[in-house]
Amino acid sequence: MSTRPRILLIGSTGQVGWELVRTLAPLGEVVAASICGKYGPVVDLTDAVALERLIAGIEPSLIVNAAAYTAVDKAEAEPDLARRINADACGVIGEQALRLGAGVLHYSTDFVFAGDAQRPYREVDEPAPLGVYGETKLAGERQLLETGAAAVVLRTSWVYGARGQNFLLTMQRLFRERDQVNVVDDQIGAPTWSRMLAEVSAQILAQALAGRLDLQAVRGLYHLSGGGQTSWYGFARAIWEAGDYRAKLAPIPSADYPTPARRPAYSVLDNQHFQDTFALALPDWRHSLAQCLEEQQG
Ligand code: NDP
Repeated sequence: MSTRPRILLIGSTGQVGWELVRTLAPLGEVVAASICGKYGPVVDLTDAVALERLIAGIEPSLIVNAAAYTAVDKAEAEPDLARRINADACGVIGEQALRLGAGVLHYSTDFVFAGDAQRPYREVDEPAPLGVYGETKLAGERQLLETGAAAVVLRTSWVYGARGQNFLLTMQRLFRERDQVNVVDDQIGAPTWSRMLAEVSAQILAQALAGRLDLQAVRGLYHLSGGGQTSWYGFARAIWEAGDYRAKLAPIPSADYPTPARRPAYSVLDNQHFQDTFALALPDWRHSLAQCLEEQQG
């Protein structure tokens, strides 16, 4: 019988989840659940009873939830589905974690904010989401934390990586396919490498498993993104400069790129509370992007 801690990872096929499969592996026995069952059991967050049963059957000492309804624009037309996945399931995870005495690591988003701040958002700043995705993610934070479980919620932003659907891969494709690519220059945030997020997450859980960190004592909200800030155009420019593309790249205002969901104009997160609590430093977004691009090139 294994004495290694059992870690239930929910959402193991997403961009962050896939990275977590690797970074959590040294910490214990990882049960990697996903909606398609690729690396372990099937989990559908819309089915509360099945979710409860899964957690009860596995009896994990840690639950990491990287699954979410992340289609920001589509969510405007599917608010009920987004709420069940992003909010209600978090309540179920929290209740089960509390019953088992398990710790929880969960991810949320910069889109909980309205984007009218003049400085990076702190955890104590009042959220005011502009759309269904942000609203349901905010409800999820609250439903999870209200259970009283030893839960750490990491709000992050602009996640990209070498896998999955993300801005980096979309830009690289457009730079190859098109002559001209226009990118909005008036939304400011911080790109965050999925790998960095997964590595830092594993470091937090390693501290907890080694008894150096009490998750119940630090339970709550934390901001965790790449260091620094840029616009989507600035992010695109850094990707473009690292390649040899024929496409021309130009900045445009958001007004020229209408989307079903409104996005915050400014959603930089202040990472200080995170860095102080967990004694972890977060690299500048440009540094992480360079590493990710280098790895992509093999
Ligand atoms: P992805 O969209 O890459 O992954 C989300 C995963 O959740 C997918 O594997 C998806 O499966 C799965 N999922 C969707 N619906 C269900 C369901 N009903 N039951 C079980 N699994 C489901 O997201 P990221 O990895 O980028 O996001 C990780 C976390 O970070 C999320 O909490 C997200 O809100 C947060 N975040 C992400 C940002 C970003 O820019 N991507 C920015 C800020 C925060 P499938 O693909 O098969 O639908």
